[in-house]
Amino acid sequence: MRPTGKLHLGHLVGALENWVSLQNEFENYHLIADYHALTTNLSTESLYNHTIDMITDWLSAGIDPVKSPVFRQSQVKEHAELHLLFSMLITTARLERNPTLKEQARDLKIETMSYGHLGYPVLQAADILLYKGEVVPVGEDQLPHIEITREVARKFNLQYAPNNSVFPEPEGKITKFARLPGLNGQRMSKSVGNTILLSDSPEEIQKKLKTAVTDPQKIRKGDPGRPDICLVFTYHQKFNPSAVGEIRQGCESGALGCVDCKKQCGIAIAHALAPLREKRAHYETHLNEVKDILADGERRAKRTAEQTMSEVHQAMKIG
Ligand code: AMP
Repeated sequence: MRPTGKLHLGHLVGALENWVSLQNEFENYHLIADYHALTTNLSTESLYNHTIDMITDWLSAGIDPVKSPVFRQSQVKEHAELHLLFSMLITTARLERNPTLKEQARDLKIETMSYGHLGYPVLQAADILLYKGEVVPVGEDQLPHIEITREVARKFNLQYAPNNSVFPEPEGKITKFARLPGLNGQRMSKSVGNTILLSDSPEEIQKKLKTAVTDPQKIRKGDPGRPDICLVFTYHQKFNPSAVGEIRQGCESGALGCVDCKKQCGIAIAHALAPLREKRAHYETHLNEVKDILADGERRAKRTAEQTMSEVHQAMKIG
């Protein structure tokens, strides 16, 4: 994840929940993509604070840094080297066809993309393959990048290690909510400004939900609604699953108005986030613990990255 500030519900349900459940089954690596953050914001002023905010959110959500390292991309220089080597294995035409970057350019009104931004998935391929990642739990927007990673791994193996592959071809793993909508119906994203943050208070959640768009045909209580096109219903499905049948029936019959429906939704989201809030309060007052976790994660990640790079050098007969 890129350190762009406090995390929102999309991060949690699209990726972070999978990270937490997979850490018991796999050897996970949790990367803070601080180089990637520069693709959309050149200012580094808030980068460190955003990094700390993000780790605090990860730990609050249940990431166990003893099981799996938490580290910054910029502190393991092998990412930069492998990115450079991989950049020879893919054409600019292939990168220009990347739908995720096209969508991002449209949302952020970027007219001419930087060389580094175009290479976003090449750096991501290095991030994944340095640790020989086999499973990459991401939101839907990232699947095209996993496909590019597979192509780069295949090309490298064919070119430099035809008899003894250095890299696996990783699979993307998505959740049931791989593209969570934000309050205006577009994909929830900080750059769109339509988020509910994991750190929002119950009052803030209620206030934000009041602005959520719902079925435009349901103007007042009594009008029948269409839950399947309503983003608040999606939130109910995730955060209030036991009430989904009742909410659907109330919405469709008109007996449940949007104001009440949103109120119930806000209570359910705040309830689901309560344990995270409690854990965050601990880390916010124990920043040294967070810094130690990062230092330890960076040492461990570096060890693996060095090992992989030595295999790369051998296969390429350089260095
Ligand atoms: P980013 O902030 O773009 O670095 O995203 C970090 C991770 O969260 C990626 O795996 C994204 O696909 C995932 N993610 C971000 N926003 C959403 C969303 N609205 N729905 C589902 N997953 C998301």
